[in-house]
Amino acid sequence: MCFKYASVASGSCGNCHYIGYKNTKILVDAGLSGKKTEENLNNLDINLENTSGILITHEHTDHIKGAGILSRRYNIPIYANENTWKVIENKIGKIKENNIKVFENNVPFYIEDIKINPFSIHHDAADPVAYTFYNGKNKISIATDLGYVCDKIKENIYDSKLVVLESNHDVEMLKMGSYPYYLKKRVLSRKGHLSNEDAGRFCIELVERGTEKILLAHLSRENNFPELAFETVKGVLQEKNIHVGKNLELSVLKRGKISNLYAV
Ligand SMILES: [Zn+2]
Ligand SMILES: [Zn+2]
Repeated sequence: MCFKYASVASGSCGNCHYIGYKNTKILVDAGLSGKKTEENLNNLDINLENTSGILITHEHTDHIKGAGILSRRYNIPIYANENTWKVIENKIGKIKENNIKVFENNVPFYIEDIKINPFSIHHDAADPVAYTFYNGKNKISIATDLGYVCDKIKENIYDSKLVVLESNHDVEMLKMGSYPYYLKKRVLSRKGHLSNEDAGRFCIELVERGTEKILLAHLSRENNFPELAFETVKGVLQEKNIHVGKNLELSVLKRGKISNLYAV
């Protein structure tokens, strides 16, 4: 058996990832409306009955908008660390007491047969995390909304077969674009978002450590476009003689649409 992964949506209007393994279904973030999440998953014939958990990365609306609704509708537990719970509790509405699950960063836990490691990342949120998932054979990682990739983050992600990695913006587009100064500063800061170039540089290390599929995620609508993210990362990899299509599979996740179902 292998992991199944799909991006339900990716970008500032809503983020949601689906992970399946055997009969276990997990969502990472639920930033779309409940209805849109159902619709997108239906395109892959996936329903949310018996979903084992919604794992929250951080409290920004594009990651939690539908979490409460889905938890109430399908009786799904929501997992987050304590600091994140403090700031999402009144945003997601009332959910059942026993669906409130609290984890500690950097302390792995299991949902059925999947070992989950939530690890700290750098972003302007209360206590943001990224996740790795391990089924005893393969590992996959989801890391978006991170200002930079420090050594600790790298170590957590290394050896993943599939990595969902933020490739948020093109630095020049951002600098020349219409964002107000404070917002530009925020995005570019170490607690902001990862640029195409930085994503590309980290992809080199990932491929050297055995990553086979990289899915670029959380693209900015104003300061990026899919072809640019793809070509920038591809170009950075090429400089190190790593070739898309030969040494790795590289794709860009769509903003509002469900992706293919990847098997790892
Ligand atoms: Zn976000
Ligand atoms: Zn965020």
